Amino acid sequence: MEYFPLFTRLQHRTVLIIGGGDIATRKTQLLLKSGAKLRIIAPHVSTELNILQQQGSIELELRPYVATDLEHCSLIIAATNDRELNQQIALAAQAKNIDVNVVDDPKLSNVVLPALVDRDPVVIAISSSAGSPVLSRLLRAQLESLIPSRYGLLANLAKRFRQEVKNRFASSRERRQFWEQILDGPAAEQMLAGHDKAAERIISEALNNPDTLSKTGEVFLVGAGPGDPDLLTFRALRLMQKCDIVLYDRLVSDEILNLVRREAKRIYVGKARSDHALPQDEINEFLLREAKSGKRVLRLKGGDPFVFGRGGEEIMRLAEEGIPFQVVPSVTAANGCGAYAGIPLTHRDFAQSCTFVTGHTKDGKLDLNWTQLAQPNQTVVFYMGLANVHALTENLIAHGLDGNTPAAVVQNGTRPNQTVLVSSLENLARDAQSLTISVPSLIFVGHTVSLRQQLAWF
Ligand code: SAH
Repeated sequence: MEYFPLFTRLQHRTVLIIGGGDIATRKTQLLLKSGAKLRIIAPHVSTELNILQQQGSIELELRPYVATDLEHCSLIIAATNDRELNQQIALAAQAKNIDVNVVDDPKLSNVVLPALVDRDPVVIAISSSAGSPVLSRLLRAQLESLIPSRYGLLANLAKRFRQEVKNRFASSRERRQFWEQILDGPAAEQMLAGHDKAAERIISEALNNPDTLSKTGEVFLVGAGPGDPDLLTFRALRLMQKCDIVLYDRLVSDEILNLVRREAKRIYVGKARSDHALPQDEINEFLLREAKSGKRVLRLKGGDPFVFGRGGEEIMRLAEEGIPFQVVPSVTAANGCGAYAGIPLTHRDFAQSCTFVTGHTKDGKLDLNWTQLAQPNQTVVFYMGLANVHALTENLIAHGLDGNTPAAVVQNGTRPNQTVLVSSLENLARDAQSLTISVPSLIFVGHTVSLRQQLAWF
């Protein structure tokens, strides 16, 4: 290895940065995290560096570098825009055996600053040994998306219990097993969800009775979005990759299902208009039973679990029984279809509000507040409404909405086979006759629909 990664404590030591431009500013901002005393020497510096000095975060000397500046420092960053000067600084530093980094000149540097994924106290440093900083940055971006933002807190949590765990388990094998279950189980999930106290409680209970760990399952109620896997949240993806069993319904696309951990058992629970593979109360009981047996159960739902998704009902039983669960929101169909079809949900000129409403009939009746839905200057989005498009449009017109109001049906929104039919309120039912009702479809009504002419992109 040309550069060996070492983590070094810089607190209270002096780092000298020579130069005051953009690069020197970026290095300074990075090094601020180290707790080092930062001394910057340059005739002119950026506004950011001036502000840092005013805040007392750095020492600033507005003058050219002189050779005696190198005394008493642990690390030197040569970041001037003068190659010769940088070289001169590097040689002087080497002669004094002080670590030096010359920006953009690896040959003169014995230290390189890595790209960081910072989950303090957990820190990942990435270097391409000065081969390609861009590659390091791309890799960093990938890791950033994989590692939960609160991950560092897990390390603090472990630190707090370290001694107790040591006292409790004599062998290192037992300790390792214990920590693996903690750091990859409900305690960690609680911590990552921001419930520090709940996480500590789980650990304390497990220390008294380690069997509780293998018996505590949990449920992840996760929104899978409208179809495009790129619209999943980081948290959704992480939980999808750690579940033991997944219950999914018709709206979850195959591409998304493919991202669930391969070993997880898959259970289809239906929910097409008339195909309920598993009735709702059986789903609720199933979630409870599996979690109670110690499984990590993923309940994966199309769109957002709390928007026409019965998510609330499904976790009510879990809440009653004290089973840990978390709910992961997602892009709901109206957001996804609006964005991918070029139909903004609000617009300063055309729609000051938007309404999401179900177009599904209950006992054959459409029991909706038509007076409110027929108000102009809003976008109304009907979920599950295509089968009733006739009644929906008729009612809106009967309650005063202009028959010329633009209206559209978006089918398979955000998916490669997305289709958009644009019409007017009075012609929509006729124009939509040829559409397949069983396909996921949204109806948009409002003047924002006409913006699609300019904004369609997908
Ligand atoms: N929880 C879901 C909605 C479930 S209700 C969400 O937040 O999106 C099911 C209805 O959602 C479907 O009948 C359809 O109206 C709508 N829907 C879901 N995904 C869709 C998609 N990709 N394209 C169009 N409509 C969709």
